[in-house]
Amino acid sequence: MASGGANYRNGTQRNSLKGTTTATDRQLSMNSNPSKAALKNKSLSSVGASSGLRKSSPGSLGGGTAKDDAGVPGRVRVAVRLRPRNAEESVADADFADCVELQPEFKRLKLRKNNWDTDTYEFDEVLTEFASQKRVYEVVAKPVVESVLDGYNGTVMAYGQTGTGKTYTLGRLGEEDTADRGIIVRAMEDILADVSLESDSVSVSYLQLYMESLQDLLDPTNDNISIVEDPKSGDVSLPGATLVEIRDQQSFLELLQLGEAHRYAANTRLNTESSRSHALLMVHVKRSVKGRELAHSSQNGNSTNMAKSLRPTLVRKGKLVVVDLAGSERIDKSGSEGHTLEEAKSINLSLSALGKCINALAENSAHVPVRDSKLTRLLRDSFGGTARTSLVITIGPSPRHRGETTSTIMFGQRAMKVENMLKLKEEFDYKSLARKLDIQLDKLIMEHERKQKAFEEEIERITTDTQNQISEAERNYADAMEKERLKYQKDYMESIKKLEEKWMMNQHKLGERKDQMASTAEEVAELQKLLSKETSLRKAAEEEVNNLKSQLAQLKMSEASANSEILKLRKMLEDEAYRKEKLEGEISMLQTQLLQLSFEADETRRRLDRGGPGKVLGGLDSLISQVRPQVNDSVNEEKASIANLFEQVGLQKILSLLEAEDADVRIHAVKVVANLAAEESNQQKIVEAGGLTSLLLLLGSSEDEMIHRVAAGAIANLAMNETNQELILSEGGIRLLSITAANAEDPQTLRMVAGAIANLCGNDKLQNKLRDEGGIKALLGMVKCGHPDVLAQVARGIANFAKCESRASAQGLF
Ligand code: ADP
Ligand code: MG
Repeated sequence: MASGGANYRNGTQRNSLKGTTTATDRQLSMNSNPSKAALKNKSLSSVGASSGLRKSSPGSLGGGTAKDDAGVPGRVRVAVRLRPRNAEESVADADFADCVELQPEFKRLKLRKNNWDTDTYEFDEVLTEFASQKRVYEVVAKPVVESVLDGYNGTVMAYGQTGTGKTYTLGRLGEEDTADRGIIVRAMEDILADVSLESDSVSVSYLQLYMESLQDLLDPTNDNISIVEDPKSGDVSLPGATLVEIRDQQSFLELLQLGEAHRYAANTRLNTESSRSHALLMVHVKRSVKGRELAHSSQNGNSTNMAKSLRPTLVRKGKLVVVDLAGSERIDKSGSEGHTLEEAKSINLSLSALGKCINALAENSAHVPVRDSKLTRLLRDSFGGTARTSLVITIGPSPRHRGETTSTIMFGQRAMKVENMLKLKEEFDYKSLARKLDIQLDKLIMEHERKQKAFEEEIERITTDTQNQISEAERNYADAMEKERLKYQKDYMESIKKLEEKWMMNQHKLGERKDQMASTAEEVAELQKLLSKETSLRKAAEEEVNNLKSQLAQLKMSEASANSEILKLRKMLEDEAYRKEKLEGEISMLQTQLLQLSFEADETRRRLDRGGPGKVLGGLDSLISQVRPQVNDSVNEEKASIANLFEQVGLQKILSLLEAEDADVRIHAVKVVANLAAEESNQQKIVEAGGLTSLLLLLGSSEDEMIHRVAAGAIANLAMNETNQELILSEGGIRLLSITAANAEDPQTLRMVAGAIANLCGNDKLQNKLRDEGGIKALLGMVKCGHPDVLAQVARGIANFAKCESRASAQGLF
């Protein structure tokens, strides 16, 4: 603020005071935040020096139920505003200094008591004559308005002598110059800017209090409004006062003008001035609190959606009371209207009562005379109550009114000591909840009625349906029953009929059976007899069988012993057979040896016979006779033994020995066969038994010279027969004989081979084959041997061949 010389009209005084005050300046500086509230200012003058956090006594202005909840300490804030000199003062007081000097930077006011003495006072705000309306609003009222918007009650009050600018400070509409707008207009602007028109509401009442009568400035006919106090909360309300809801600034201004017009009219009618009456503007701000539901629901535990929707809204109801008090000057002093003393007392009753209350509160008096006036009743919440209160005291500069100015300052100083406990005006909006519930209830009732109706209709329908179904079912049941009954009846009748038939049949059969029974009885007796007979026969047969069985067992036993006997005998027989076989083998061996001996004896004898020189054997007979054992006395016995052997052993056996493993046995066997073949009577048998074939094989397979000689001799003897000659040829005899001749060294062997071939040469049919198979060639080949026996046989063969040749040519075969 301006700190120029204008604040100090009397420099000397200022100087004179300077020294006395400096020491306290700092420590007395104000805490601008009202809620911090520790009252630190100390009047440097006569105002009581001690002060602190006020604790209201139960009987105080702010006591009672309103204090039940913890509040925020909030001292009444007081600002002083100095009106500039007006035109008259500028003239009349031109030679005088102002009675006050302001030190806004120190928030101090110096009051001149006289030319040499000043008192210094400290205020929450010191507003000089230059202070703008805007600044005044911000300093004095704005914190209160903000509190109201937050849900607290708030009071802005102007106190001062008539003409010092109370109405100017509070009520200027600023229509000509917007800078002139007073606190009321600016407060409403701020309120409307802050509230939401959908969820919040702002409504105002405008009243005048004159001579303890409360008049409604919005409804002039309503001139005696009663004050109602809630004994519980201590809240004051005016149910009779008109409450106009404000939605915009313009309508509010119009409402203010209307109220002002009514005030003027009323004052005219009552022959009074506005300065004698108190004007009260009440602004109710109701705001619903959002974002509190959660906290609330958690307090109440689990809430259903339904319950949630039915929860009352939390609302904050702040009330701003702006009070433009009647002039604080003493009525007798102004003395203009000529009221009686009683009237004057009545006119100022409220104001003096307010002063008393403020005094009591400032002094922490046990008794605060709230009930002494309507004004104090209306303002019980503003001083010592729960509201945030800001007081502006207005003073004029004129020394002529020093007394009034002083008393105003003293009022302000005392008011600064009043401590309020700010309390949030928050509550649940049960009314609107009840309305909501009412609406919902009505909806539910309607819905219920509709559903009830529908339900009844449904029940009726179901009943009808069910009855229909029941009767249908009953019909069906009856039909089915009837059908069943008929069926059973029919079955029953049929059964009866069948039974009757059966009975009849049985009766009939019974008759027959009775007859049968008689004959049957006889039969049975007969059969029984037969049966007993059979039984006895069976028994006899069984005995017989048992007898036979025992006999059989005995027989079996004897058979077993016989069998073992047979086995023994069979064994003995086998042993005998084996011994016999062994003996036979030995016999044949002995016989073979015997044969050999006899053959060798033959040979020896023959060699002895050929002892005479030049004796040439010619012709077939001579050869045979050589091979044939000579018949003389000495060998008759031997011949007989060979014939005997032939008979005993059998030709087959002898022939089989030709193929024996043992070479000696083979030689003996060949010799035996050769001897046998010498007998003409045996030749046929030998050939038939395969002897010729065996001899030919032996000739081919053996390499033994003696075997070759003996076998060739035997073949030569057998070759005397024409049939045998052909057989020899067909079995490859020519070739075998030729090979034997080629390989032989012994002349006797060659003699036998040549003899055999010579015999073959006598057969006409074999001429060609003999020649083709090399028989003739072999025969001729043997000539080189030179032995006379061999030559003789070769000659015989050639002669035989030549005889046949000539016979053939004679027959013209060539
Ligand atoms: P009160 O209401 O206290 O009786 P008013 O507000 O009617 O006093 O003011 C009286 C006169 O002084 C009015 O003409 C008003 O315009 C003027 N006045 C008051 N305060 C101021 C001020 N601060 N600046 C200029 N004029 C003022
Ligand atoms: Mg006024």
